[in-house]
This record gives sequence, structure tokens and C-alpha cells, in this order.
Amino acid sequence: MVACKCAVCKSADSKDKRLRSSVHIQSSSTSVVIDTTPDFRYQMLRSDIEQLDGVVFTHAHKDHIAGLDDVKAFNFIHQSVMPLFANKETADAIKRDFYYAFAEKKYPGVPSLELHVKEKEVFSVGDLHFQPIQVKHLHMDVTGYRIGDFTYITDANYISDEEKQKIKGSKVLVLNALRKEKHLSHFTLQEAIDLAVELQVPTTYFTHISHQLGLHNEVSKELPAGMYLAYDGLVIHVD
Ligand SMILES: [Zn+2]
Ligand SMILES: [Zn+2]
Repeated sequence: MVACKCAVCKSADSKDKRLRSSVHIQSSSTSVVIDTTPDFRYQMLRSDIEQLDGVVFTHAHKDHIAGLDDVKAFNFIHQSVMPLFANKETADAIKRDFYYAFAEKKYPGVPSLELHVKEKEVFSVGDLHFQPIQVKHLHMDVTGYRIGDFTYITDANYISDEEKQKIKGSKVLVLNALRKEKHLSHFTLQEAIDLAVELQVPTTYFTHISHQLGLHNEVSKELPAGMYLAYDGLVIHVD
């Protein structure tokens, strides 16, 4: 966190150095990111992503959409429009925040975006199929996604039984776990562990971690089998 002097923020361990949460999904032919964080540009450079076929959004909080303008590099390199997928509430916020990209007369060089509203139905980007999973972030609807045997849920503190059914059977779950102390809109570490146990997913990674959770190395030792703290640059292979 900016200006913080805590042990995590001052840690020399690269796994304690976190940019904002997102995930890049790559199949044999398709490349998608979930959310464009304020760090999106650097995340794309750092991971050497040369192709991006679409962006899928979880919700409109700034830490999940602020970097969207930088998709214009992909527009320019590939001479193509970037398809975006989001629920209506998120799509409306994107149109407000990036109004200039949706203007009738656009200033030259603004990103070229094509916004698709998706609520509950499965949709596809190339050969990747996204099953939306609706979760609650206090009273805001946030969309998690299941792609084959991989499920990504960020910014949640409640999931209904009906939506939990959509997660069951996943091989890998990525789930938000902010810190140990109670929080009004995010799962705590214990709440996330309990949910992972309930859902019987064999492998779970915790993400959207605050500096308040503690050092990666120390917290990792406290986790049950099959549960891990995610870290920047982590690569997961799902068959
Ligand atoms: Zn949020
Ligand atoms: Zn967030």
C-alpha cells in the first residue's frame, strides 16, 4: 500500500509485492483477461502478453476497471476492436468512466471497444466458454466465472447455494481472501478456507490479498492441504 511501512509492504520477498488482482487465461488459441486493473498496462508488459482476444469484467470498482484505456495498444498492433463482456451494471459504469471511447465523434487514438452485456448465460470468447457466477460484494452484484474446470471469484463476501452449485466440480478455484479480520465486503481468510472446504475443490488459491493478511511465507504455512496464497506471476495449468 502506498506510504505504508508495515512488514509486508517493506518485505524483500517478491511474493509480498502485489499489484491489483486480475487473471490472464490462455488456451491453445484464445487469450483473455478478467478485469483491467490500474496496473493492467504493466501486468501485460511484465507477462509479455502479445495477443488479447477479449476482456471479461467482474464489477466496476476502480481497482478492476481503471486500466481499460491501455487495451488501445492491442487495437493498434492487431488493427482490431477489443470485445468487452460485463453485466449491465458494470457495462453502464464502463460507458460512464470511459465515455470518450463510446462517443459519436471520437478523438483520434482512443481505445476501440465493443461492449457486450452478459448476465447469467454462458458466453464464449474464441474457444473459451465462460459460465457467469453471481456473488455478493456487500450489496453489489459481482460476477465470478467458471471456465472449464477453473473458477475465478474475486470481491465476494457471500455466495448463494444456487451459485455454489456452479462452482462444484471445479478442479481449481481462485477465491478472494482479504485479511484475517472481519471485512464488510470481502471474505476473510477463514471464511474463504471454510468455503473451499465446503465446495470440495481439490486446489484453491487465495487472491485479492491485503497487506494486512501478513507475510506470504508465514501465512502459507497456516493453510490446509490443497490451499495456497496466490502471488503475482503465478501460472496454473488446468487440463
Ligand atoms: Zn470491489
Ligand atoms: Zn477489488
